[in-house]
Amino acid sequence: DHLDINIAGSKINWRWMDNFLLMPQVTRVLPSNFAMQRHELFYSRWQFPTSPAKNLFGDRYVTVGDAAGIIRAFKGKGVNTACTTGIRAAEVMMDVGISKEAFKDYYDSFSDITSDLPYGKIIRMLAGFSARCGLFTPMLQLAKEDKKFRAAFFDSVAGSRMFKEIIFETISLQLSWKVVKILIMWFFKQFSFMSWVIKPISKAITNKRT
Ligand SMILES: Cc1cc2nc3c(=O)[nH]c(=O)nc-3n(C[C@H](O)[C@H](O)[C@H](O)COP(=O)(O)OP(=O)(O)OC[C@H]3O[C@@H](n4cnc5c(N)ncnc54)[C@H](O)[C@@H]3O)c2cc1C
Repeated sequence: DHLDINIAGSKINWRWMDNFLLMPQVTRVLPSNFAMQRHELFYSRWQFPTSPAKNLFGDRYVTVGDAAGIIRAFKGKGVNTACTTGIRAAEVMMDVGISKEAFKDYYDSFSDITSDLPYGKIIRMLAGFSARCGLFTPMLQLAKEDKKFRAAFFDSVAGSRMFKEIIFETISLQLSWKVVKILIMWFFKQFSFMSWVIKPISKAITNKRT
């Protein structure tokens, strides 16, 4: 029997894993004595791939899936990509060959994904910033009110469209102003001790909104 246990986060180390394994909710679902035997476990630390691997193909070799790092930057879709890169690599081997030149076709056939990486990274950065700064709730509220913004949220999480398309079809002056207002309110909240200045300004902004 084999168990793979993953935890994810930006500052994860073996202590986090130890604490995780000792949580009552976790020990309950693991085989008895599992936590006690944890010094025999193999711990390893990996990073999720975020860009194409270096030298991912060459003469007589090609990499696929996570190893190739051909992923969607925000919604990984790792299983889909593992399958499509595997299928595409096999097709190239059968139809074109196994030389470095032949595998250029393989890499080029994922240009839609690789050229979309910077846009996915922008969305990932914005989502990370919103989560860290407590901006998710007002953004979700805005998504409830704004149909386009709601669709952008859905498409980003589902990874159903290219991130470049999502960004350029959603961005507008009107929406940008709504986001700026949320940011201004957030900024003022950070300096709540200056409420005598903030209150009249935030009142003006909120009044304009309604
Ligand atoms: C916690 C977590 C949640 C995820 N959720 C999703 C999700 O919801 N949807 C989604 O699409 N993707 C998800 N992914 C990503 C997805 O699992 C991967 O992108 C996908 O499994 C990659 O497939 P792969 O074949 O490239 O690599 P893997 O599935 O990692 O397969 C590589 C295999 O090679 C074996 N191996 C390694 N080294 C050697 C060696 N030296 N000799 C022999 N064998 C070796 C490994 O044991 C492994 O079995 C998730 C990943 C994680 C970690």
